[in-house]
Amino acid sequence: MNTSTCKKCILDAKTPGISINPDTGLCQFCEHYTPISEEKKEEARLRMNALFKSPPGEGKYDVIFALSGGMDSCNTLYRLKSEYPHLKILAVQFDNGFISDTALENAKKFCDLTKSTYFRLALDESKLRDTFKRAALSMDAFPGFAKYRASDICNTCISIIKQKITEKALATKSPFIVFAFSPGQTKTPFIALKKPFMVWTRKLFEEQLETMGVKDREPYLMDKKILKATSPETEVTIIHPYLVWGYDKQKIREECIRIGWIEPDLNDRNSSNCLLNAFAIQNHRQKYHIHPYAYDLSALVRQGYMGREEAKKKINAGLSKSSIEEIQRQLHLS
Ligand SMILES: [Zn+2]
Repeated sequence: MNTSTCKKCILDAKTPGISINPDTGLCQFCEHYTPISEEKKEEARLRMNALFKSPPGEGKYDVIFALSGGMDSCNTLYRLKSEYPHLKILAVQFDNGFISDTALENAKKFCDLTKSTYFRLALDESKLRDTFKRAALSMDAFPGFAKYRASDICNTCISIIKQKITEKALATKSPFIVFAFSPGQTKTPFIALKKPFMVWTRKLFEEQLETMGVKDREPYLMDKKILKATSPETEVTIIHPYLVWGYDKQKIREECIRIGWIEPDLNDRNSSNCLLNAFAIQNHRQKYHIHPYAYDLSALVRQGYMGREEAKKKINAGLSKSSIEEIQRQLHLS
């Protein structure tokens, strides 16, 4: 019975740490799953509305927005500005050296449409390449659970984004940070960041970089001086709107395309959002026998946001061999 797949989601017993109950046919996550109550949903809706309706207004911006140029983040930016036109938004796109032209174009287009300020976060490209190479070669730099959420390369990239976006919020005294994470990628609509927590995440990521053997770590971390100058009362709230709005991928896609979002041509490896993606997935599977999307997609299926067959298709989609080889060459891994 140990090779079975969960009847409800797509997790299978071959993945380390996942077990399927032979009596129920369910994985441990589906067995213990309880949907969010209507009261809790309404509470979150009211809270988000109150925050966006009247932001404190003391900072340069109301929202620091993580914009990848992908469908989810472009759609969130558009909807946020449609519902709350008064918001002053700084949209940060992290140019990790591997984002596609399509992603850049989409990000700029949606900033124009929403009259948001665009900021391209760029760091030393050759050092970034070396960091991603070290992430690919590393084992266990991130804690167990993080391995189910994303590949080592993605975890490195998203940690840099989180550090630098928090730094931006502190530097501009902006009260909110918005990430367009799906209900599969996070469980909480709001996270209140206080100074001790920021200090802790900085230290944690610095240690993870050290484990990978990254020597020059400061550029990836929150600026020490800015953090030091932050008063202990400061609070920055991370908001994940999809956990409040719900997540209808079909509707998101339709709306995005209607507004002018350019769909990546999947046959053209240069137009997916991040060119590291296929390599990052393969690398993670080889090291840990975990598909970095399996847990997130399963959570979407469990919550009724995605069909089980659709999720299975995504997991089983072939990875472009030429794209993987190209990245291996660029990271000096071949
Ligand atoms: Zn399951």
